Amino acid sequence: MTADLGEAPTVPSLDVRGLAYAYPDGTQALYGVDLTIDRGERVALLGPNGAGKTTLVLHLNGILHGGLGEVRVGGLAVDPKDKRTLREIRRRVGIVFQDPDDQLFMPTVREDVAFGPANLGIRGAELDLRVRDALDRVGMLAVADRPPQHLSFGQRRRVAVATVLAMEPEILVLDEPSSNLDPASRRELAEILLSLDVTVLMVTHDLPYAAELCPRSVILSGGVIAADASTRDVLMDGDLLTSHRLELPFGFDPAATAR
Ligand code: ADP
Repeated sequence: MTADLGEAPTVPSLDVRGLAYAYPDGTQALYGVDLTIDRGERVALLGPNGAGKTTLVLHLNGILHGGLGEVRVGGLAVDPKDKRTLREIRRRVGIVFQDPDDQLFMPTVREDVAFGPANLGIRGAELDLRVRDALDRVGMLAVADRPPQHLSFGQRRRVAVATVLAMEPEILVLDEPSSNLDPASRRELAEILLSLDVTVLMVTHDLPYAAELCPRSVILSGGVIAADASTRDVLMDGDLLTSHRLELPFGFDPAATAR
């Protein structure tokens, strides 16, 4: 189709091929994972505890390595031995960890958001613009000069998203983005994430959040991809959910999920 339009085929944001990994103690966490995410997609990564989700995520920016297979981010292969490549990979893969306090450590919000791009050598007006833009995208521009620890948990999570957006990532990886949020903060974050024009991989146990935000869901279970389909199809398949210890909350109707 793209060839007919005369456009160059787009490189996927994420391309994981045959990724297998055992921890040093011998625990095999991944058994050959294949996952391709196209630019602009939003994909939920579902699975029970111990499925290998964290292990997979930590391979995306080279924190874990040494197993089999290959990870490419926007076409660039993760090569932990090459410092320059790894720097660029870490810019491209923006991981928002579950606890924003792991990510915010500067005296002000503005300095936290500026930290990453400043490390890339961005300075002056360009840096200011990056910071303003990232904070604006998460609705946090008004708190730029406040200390992060004076903000609510939901606000701190939004600032953590901004610290990653300021790096202009190829893919935003969110670890349990709805955890510990009150209903209003949960909805506000959903609206923000839906408004972003960025590829998203979202690790979550919150199946309604997956349904709201991600047209596609992947189930990782026992270190293998057990399903990769539209979120609606995944959530409609009760046997599939049960066999991977996934549960819809009481009263949630997966049939109401967008096709
Ligand atoms: P998830 O994020 O889906 O809960 P993990 O990736 O954390 O799953 O874990 C996958 C498997 O790897 C589990 O069996 C877990 O016990 C094991 N594991 C995780 N971290 C380590 C580690 N540092 N050393 C040994 N085994 C680990």
